[in-house]
Amino acid sequence: MKTLLMGPPGAGKGTQAVILAEKLGIPHISTGDMFRKAVKEQTPLGVEAKRYMDSGQLVPDEVTIGIVRERLAEADCVNGFLLDGFPRTVFQAEALDDILTKLGTQLDVALNIDVDSEALIGRITGRRMCRNCGKPYHVTFSPSKVEGRCDVCGGELYQRDDDKEETVRKRLEVYNTQTLPLLDYYQAKGLVINVNGNQPMEKVTEDILAALKK
Ligand SMILES: [Zn+2]
Repeated sequence: MKTLLMGPPGAGKGTQAVILAEKLGIPHISTGDMFRKAVKEQTPLGVEAKRYMDSGQLVPDEVTIGIVRERLAEADCVNGFLLDGFPRTVFQAEALDDILTKLGTQLDVALNIDVDSEALIGRITGRRMCRNCGKPYHVTFSPSKVEGRCDVCGGELYQRDDDKEETVRKRLEVYNTQTLPLLDYYQAKGLVINVNGNQPMEKVTEDILAALKK
């Protein structure tokens, strides 16, 4: 099963990918994880990627694509893989097709976790964290007993900058702008499976596995 997972930031895509890869017995290929590993192991591409990251620049496509190309050529990917975080653009999708063609294979499925934007914004902007012990809370789904205070240590609860509404809206906007053309790209190839992401995590996993069986 050669597949990729798409979904907006905050939709639980990373967690879902880990669970699915384990259930399907295929490697979970996260470009974020791979960058960190390549940098740590100081592979040539890792060294190059680090130069960009250190100077606060975006890692260019050719570096990202190079890292994916190296990873997909490894033996454990022969029977399948689950790509997470790549491709993000049509350009990268075309590069992925090219990589797979050269490996004598092709993509089977593009999974898309569909989540209602407003619900997602509520889910993310409600997150709080204890400044002292790091325990996570949610103002609606798992509130602390005393507002603004940690149940465990009494520390102050705060909202991470990443979880502020304006930031979340911007990230979603970027995601939607980049991903809609990507969805069209895979739709044209008949590869897209849409999954309802507006439900509990376990149910989403169940729906994905059921859809993949068909
Ligand atoms: Zn605490």
